[in-house]
Amino acid sequence: MSITKGYETIVSPLQQSALSKKGLCDYVINVASGCLHGCTFCYVPSTPAIRTKQAELIQRGVTSPQMDWGKYLFIREGIPHKLRDKLSRQRSWRTTPSGKGVVLLCSGTDPYQNREVASITRESIKVLLEYGRRVRILTRSPLWLQDLDILVHPNVTVGMSIPYLDDDLSRQIEPQAPPPSVRYKAVLEGRKAGCRIYIAMAPTPPQMKRVNFKKHFEKILEVNPEVVFWEPINARGTNGKRMLAAGLDFVHSITEQKHWAESFIKQWAELESAANEVGCIEKLHIWPDLDLTNYVSQEILEYWWYKPTPEKWIDDTSIESSSFRPSLSVSC
Ligand code: SF4
Repeated sequence: MSITKGYETIVSPLQQSALSKKGLCDYVINVASGCLHGCTFCYVPSTPAIRTKQAELIQRGVTSPQMDWGKYLFIREGIPHKLRDKLSRQRSWRTTPSGKGVVLLCSGTDPYQNREVASITRESIKVLLEYGRRVRILTRSPLWLQDLDILVHPNVTVGMSIPYLDDDLSRQIEPQAPPPSVRYKAVLEGRKAGCRIYIAMAPTPPQMKRVNFKKHFEKILEVNPEVVFWEPINARGTNGKRMLAAGLDFVHSITEQKHWAESFIKQWAELESAANEVGCIEKLHIWPDLDLTNYVSQEILEYWWYKPTPEKWIDDTSIESSSFRPSLSVSC
C-alpha cells in the first residue's frame, strides 16, 4: 500500500467544536489531515474537513480522498508554536455545561498514530497545560504511554476507542490500527500510572448483543474509567462503501436509514440492560445521532446531547450528574 505523506500549515490550530453535544469538548485541535489508521467506518472523510479540500488533496498526490482514507497523512507541524501564540492573546474561553471548556485532541485524526504526530501532540498538550486548559485525548494507539510524564495530570483525561475486545474482528473493521487487546493493556498501564481514563466503546457493529456488551463492560470496569461513551457503526456516505469494499457484509443490514435506526435503538436498549446488570449505568454516556430524530423521543435525544459527563475537572463545581434519566422509547 503506498502512502502519500507531507506537511501542511493552517491558520488557526484551535477550533471551536460542536462536540459538546457528545460531552467531549468545546474546542478541538487536529494535528494532521488524514489518518494512517484508516478505519473502514471512519466518518471523517465525509466531513467538511476533508470534503472541502478534496481538490487540494488530489493535487498533492492523493488519488481519491474518500476511498483512499488511511493512505495519506499531512502533518501540521507548526501547531504548538501557533497554539502558544493564540493562547497568549485569547481573552475569552467558551465553556458549555456539556463541553466544559475541554480541548480535544483529536476529532479528525489520531493524535498518537505515529511518533512524528505524537511529538506534535505532546508539545501541544504542554502548551495547553501551561495555559491551564482542560485536555482530552482520544486515540487507538498505545503510543501515549510514552507521555505519561505530562498525561498524569488532573486536567488531562486519556480515552481509548475500544468498541470490543476481539482482535480478529478488529482486523476486518480497523485493520491498520493497533488491536484492541493492545489498547486495553495500554489503558490498564496508564491507569496504574495514575492517568485519568475514559473509554469510547465506539463504534460497535450491529452483531454485538447484550451478552457481548456485558462481557465487555466487565473487562472495561477493571480499568475503572470515569466515563464510557457509546455509539454504533453508521453506514452513511463513503464509509459504507469502504466497509463494503473491506468485505463487511453486516453493512447491508444498516444501509437504509430505517434499518440503521432500528438497529441503533435495539443495541442501545441491550447496552443499557447490560450496563444495569453489571452496575455501571452511571458511567455510560450515549452518543445519539442527529438522524434519530424521527425514531427516538426528543426528550431522550436532548437529555444525551446536553448532558455533562460524570467526570469532574479542577474547579468544576457547577457540573452535577442529573438523577433524572428518561427511559428509551420509540417516538413513533
Ligand atoms: S483512528 Fe479515528 S480518525 Fe483515524 S481512521 Fe480511525 S476513526 Fe478515523
